Amino acid sequence: MKVPFVDLHSQYLALKPQIDAAFQRVVEQSAFILGEEHDAFERAFAAYIGTRHALGVSSGTDALELALLACGIGPGDEVITVPHTFIATCEAITRTGATIRWVDVDPSTYNMDPHLIEPALTAKTKAVLVVHLYGQPADMDSISKICRSRRLKIVEDCCQSHGARFHGQRVGTFGDVACFSFYPGKNLGAYGDGGAVVTNDQAIADRVRLLRNHGQRDKYTHLVEGYCHRLDNLQAAVLGVKLPHLDEWNHQRRQHAALYDKLLNGIPGVITPRLHPHSEPVYHLYVVQVPQRDRVQDVLKQAGIATGIHYPIPLHEQPAYQHLGHPNEDFPVSHDLGPRVLSLPMFPELTSTQIEFVVENLKTSIRS
Ligand SMILES: *Cc1c(COP(=O)(O)O)cnc(C)c1O
Repeated sequence: MKVPFVDLHSQYLALKPQIDAAFQRVVEQSAFILGEEHDAFERAFAAYIGTRHALGVSSGTDALELALLACGIGPGDEVITVPHTFIATCEAITRTGATIRWVDVDPSTYNMDPHLIEPALTAKTKAVLVVHLYGQPADMDSISKICRSRRLKIVEDCCQSHGARFHGQRVGTFGDVACFSFYPGKNLGAYGDGGAVVTNDQAIADRVRLLRNHGQRDKYTHLVEGYCHRLDNLQAAVLGVKLPHLDEWNHQRRQHAALYDKLLNGIPGVITPRLHPHSEPVYHLYVVQVPQRDRVQDVLKQAGIATGIHYPIPLHEQPAYQHLGHPNEDFPVSHDLGPRVLSLPMFPELTSTQIEFVVENLKTSIRS
């Protein structure tokens, strides 16, 4: 048996007639940029998340950059975020000219530890960029409370958490603005790069709309220098077909996670995902901690099981961030996770048989 890490092709086959028809429609109209499919998807995505506005953009990374810019973040400002995330979270901060201020993650949820925000604040702190990592919402009760009392902007990185809920409310509705990625392997994925910015704030929405399209409101009148950060119409068409299935896919992911949880329970040294009591995660990734991770990964690979590591090196230890001068022990939780985390196969079309096969092999690898 082979178990892939994700399986985008079987999802295409399940929706082939609708996807092919959507592509055909766009190509027949030959409206490739900011067309009908694009606007329809923006409306549908805003309705799904529960915000007044959704703006299609070119990627999750660009969504984060535009969201920060629209909050007025720039040179001289500091933005608080975590080192245990994908680098795009931090690239976006630097690209605005602002400075990254890291705080460590909670050792059980792997999301931002709210207790560490206050000690990291300075006169320059303007925003907290909170990541809902692996599809699990961060503790928005505590984070919102701190940010409100300090008048800090909250930007949510929802690039792994499309549809996740906290206290029954979707992530992407807690902050001033939130960002999504439609990279093909995400819970809602396009057939190339894509992203969205969602917000209830009219001024932020207007600013993102302006910046994503060369600073123009009317054709060839440029109010500011902007960016070429639009979502293209073919991607929007694919996303429009897929969005109505997102809740069902997320439900399937939760069922797979529950089976993994059950079968992995009691294996010595294995730590399965631990949730905040009020969160309904969407398991973009199913991440366990295992002893001798590299060996376990190798044994699984020999058995035909593909796994991932998210992430092997925390950002403060990356070559790209050596100039920030953080020793490894500045963020000990993130540091310790690097050699221990292992992402098991997770996608909606996964079968129980495949999950049982993964767990059997994982058990063998730990016993041997
Ligand atoms: C995928 C991802 C991004 C970036 O999204 P792209 O669409 O690839 O630019 C940002 N943050 C996190 C946490 C992600 O997983």
